[in-house]
Amino acid sequence: PMPGAAKQSFALAGDAAHAMHPLAGQGLNVGLADVAELVQVIRAKEFWRPLHDLKLLRRYERARQADVQAMGWVTDGLQRLFAQPGPVWQNLRNWGMRGFDCSGPLKHWMTQRAMGQSADKAHLVS
Ligand SMILES: Cc1cc2nc3c(=O)[nH]c(=O)nc-3n(C[C@H](O)[C@H](O)[C@H](O)COP(=O)(O)OP(=O)(O)OC[C@H]3O[C@@H](n4cnc5c(N)ncnc54)[C@H](O)[C@@H]3O)c2cc1C
Repeated sequence: PMPGAAKQSFALAGDAAHAMHPLAGQGLNVGLADVAELVQVIRAKEFWRPLHDLKLLRRYERARQADVQAMGWVTDGLQRLFAQPGPVWQNLRNWGMRGFDCSGPLKHWMTQRAMGQSADKAHLVS
């Protein structure tokens, strides 16, 4: 809520809502998923609830929290892993990348999630 304005509140999306490390190249995707979720929350709102209702905006906040946090952990982990010097870490990274590339269902699951196409959002892309 804005100070001094009892009936005004706002929702943030994209980079304004969360800092995303450019390493994973996911900032735009996460921002688009924010907008899709906000649209979904507004569509599903009770007819009597106004758009500035904090309960409504908190539904959006909660719905996005897990995704944004998970993406943050993944990019932070990758950044730390790639920052490690030395041949042991390099071999470990190469082994991990090759393993992930051959992982089939795991790779498919990760790419679907990175594109915001998890099963719970299938209704948004249909
Ligand atoms: C080097 C780099 C590489 C990236 N690569 C990828 C990638 O491969 N894939 C990916 O998904 N994401 C990538 N991203 C992230 C992606 O670019 C951002 O997450 C995305 O652009 C965020 O969109 P946004 O609309 O939230 O913010 P922005 O794109 O920053 O848009 C905000 C807009 O608001 C305007 N603005 C600011 N202040 C005001 C004001 N006071 N009044 C009016 N207008 C204002 C700005 O001029 C700007 O046009 C990358 C980012 C960087 C830095």
